[in-house]
Amino acid sequence: MSQEFCVVCGRSDVPVVEGVCADCAAKRTALVRVEGRPVVVLCPTCGARKVGQSWERQGASTLLTPEDLTPLLVIHPEAGLRKVRWTEGGLNPLIRQLEASVDVVFRGAQRTETIPFEVKIEHRTCLDCSRRSGHFFTAVIQLRASLDDPREKSPALRARLEEQFDSMMGEASKSAKAALSWKEEKPEGWDLYLTDTLAARSLARLGKVRLRGTLKESATLWGRKGGQDIYRVTFCLRVPVGGGVVRPSAAERLERQA
Ligand SMILES: [Zn+2]
Ligand SMILES: [Zn+2]
Repeated sequence: MSQEFCVVCGRSDVPVVEGVCADCAAKRTALVRVEGRPVVVLCPTCGARKVGQSWERQGASTLLTPEDLTPLLVIHPEAGLRKVRWTEGGLNPLIRQLEASVDVVFRGAQRTETIPFEVKIEHRTCLDCSRRSGHFFTAVIQLRASLDDPREKSPALRARLEEQFDSMMGEASKSAKAALSWKEEKPEGWDLYLTDTLAARSLARLGKVRLRGTLKESATLWGRKGGQDIYRVTFCLRVPVGGGVVRPSAAERLERQA
């Protein structure tokens, strides 16, 4: 059997694949690279990232994180990514100069590749934040005292209603909390504006059960878009202002977890 040697460097004391040793192969191919000029689109208000057509990671940092950066690295199919260290520089907050120091395993040996590149940050207000700022809403929950309670239009009444409502917000779904956009004080209670009708309905129903209230739903035609009627839905939630919160029973809790 003839001795195999690397056609590039001539070494014969190391394994060769297709005539080339691992060192020479690593020099000749990019084990790690960054494609094109990456852009991260983020909402400066809430930190959400635009991924394709949707917004993700609301509440994330508006600074670049490994979660933004690591997916930008393209690793050679024969190499395994072990670890990345990031250094960030540059004075422009919207064009970040980065250097990735990447540990990869290639043909059984670990190597460190250093890749400098730039990431452009594009600030764009996400859908949720633009809806909020534009006072966009699809549903209103009118929080009122029950009709059996004495008719009252006082700050004390509004404070009690608010307290009742807040007491069950901890149980509200994530989507309901996110959809709650702003609230307005009315003489007889509160109007809560929401950006998602389904979430508003689930929140209103939760209020009905937990606060022993009554609920009435009505829709009003608001406009037309793309040949379809658009409705705004009003949920009138009346709760006894003297009453307390009904705690979920163990059986109900299990049901909701299921
Ligand atoms: Zn070689
Ligand atoms: Zn946002």
